[in-house]
Amino acid sequence: MDLPQVMTDGLARVVALVAVSDRITVLTGAGISTESGIPDYRGPNGVWTKDPAAQRLVDINWYLADPEVRRQAWQERLHHPVWGASPGPGHRALVELERAGELRALITQNIDGLHQAAGSSPSMVLELHGTIHRCRCLDCGYETPMQEQLDRVRSGEADPPCQRCGGIQRSATIAFGQALDPDVLRRAREAAATCRLFLAVGTSLRVQPAARLCALAHEAGAELIIVNGEPTPYDDVAAAVVHGPIGEVLPAVVLGKR
Ligand code: ZN
Repeated sequence: MDLPQVMTDGLARVVALVAVSDRITVLTGAGISTESGIPDYRGPNGVWTKDPAAQRLVDINWYLADPEVRRQAWQERLHHPVWGASPGPGHRALVELERAGELRALITQNIDGLHQAAGSSPSMVLELHGTIHRCRCLDCGYETPMQEQLDRVRSGEADPPCQRCGGIQRSATIAFGQALDPDVLRRAREAAATCRLFLAVGTSLRVQPAARLCALAHEAGAELIIVNGEPTPYDDVAAAVVHGPIGEVLPAVVLGKR
């Protein structure tokens, strides 16, 4: 096996663990998509976390109460970096892991759809925070492709209402103050509790439910592998930790599966 330059002792151990493991559950966070040009919005150093004014745009109470907040939020959606982003080597490596047949679930905190764009099966991807690729009515739940609604914004509707009931719409993502989708959360918990290997990638593991899912896997006896730029609260109990660029580390991690 040809190991790349980035290989370290920690990475060698990760490669060995992944090579022999079945039932792998992966959790990804903003770190895997920042390499594709999508900033971290809700992490500890995220755009929204550091700028409370920006956070208004994704707080459900502000959103419902203030038409100006909605108008700004639609402009943010229209110009979101996701529309010009492509999956990176990290996303593609996880497609290879799925094709190797050992992937239990691909849980993500990201709303960008880049796992599916890379080729991960939609049925495998559990989007904890929803997706920006869909639009949902907050009154009747009617869903449409986001691009249809963005076309209306481009045509001059500053805050396009639901075409079925006239209600307020927003992206099918979880705003602050909104509950997570209980079905997605149930499936994510199950995938965390029943895997042999839990691979956390590009997530600080400091926000919920990510931290809880990691704890759940660890308590159920799974080995924990952490690939992240910064230390996490779970590094001490992990079987292996790699602090390196995800786009270089993940392709190496799945080498043993080929
Ligand atoms: Zn509606």
